[in-house]
Amino acid sequence: MTEKTAVYPGSFDPLTNGHLDIIARARRLCDRLILAVLVNDEKKPLFTVEERIAMICDNVASDGGAPVEVLEFSGLLVDFTQRVGARMIVRGLRAVSDFEYEFQMALMNRRLAPAVETVFLMAKEEYSYVSSRLVKEVARLGGDVTSLTPPAVADALARRLHR
Ligand code: ADP
Repeated sequence: MTEKTAVYPGSFDPLTNGHLDIIARARRLCDRLILAVLVNDEKKPLFTVEERIAMICDNVASDGGAPVEVLEFSGLLVDFTQRVGARMIVRGLRAVSDFEYEFQMALMNRRLAPAVETVFLMAKEEYSYVSSRLVKEVARLGGDVTSLTPPAVADALARRLHR
């Protein structure tokens, strides 16, 4: 098999411009990118997995590199990765604060599935402080998040948080 399939997993609760930047970079490195949206009901996400998937589908351009598929997943990431025929996991790194957790996850995943490689990408500097958690917090307090997420996501946040 010569096709390079990569999996970019996350909660995407909700999708931010930081995620979109990582997606654009990953699409230049693989032949097929699978966005794996975590079903994490115990974390009480603000948006359901269906809503998070719809946000991604609506905001990922159809052109611009490798085709993107959006799937939900739960369970072990390395099992999902191998099931879809991928050997590359893409993760984003923002600041040093991401490193410790990502380092542990990558090495644990390597132990579970030695053939799967984790690749780290960095988004544009202007997104280096953007996280879904912070975007939700700012939106909850009435702050403007329009330059941090796609417009439809900012609208969805306002509707969900200020009904
Ligand atoms: P998770 O709950 O798995 O951390 P997230 O949706 O918060 O899910 O993030 C998914 C991935 O995207 C993680 O690897 C995270 O570090 C990365 N990421 C999120 N925002 C950014 C950003 N602004 N710049 C770079 N990477 C990012």
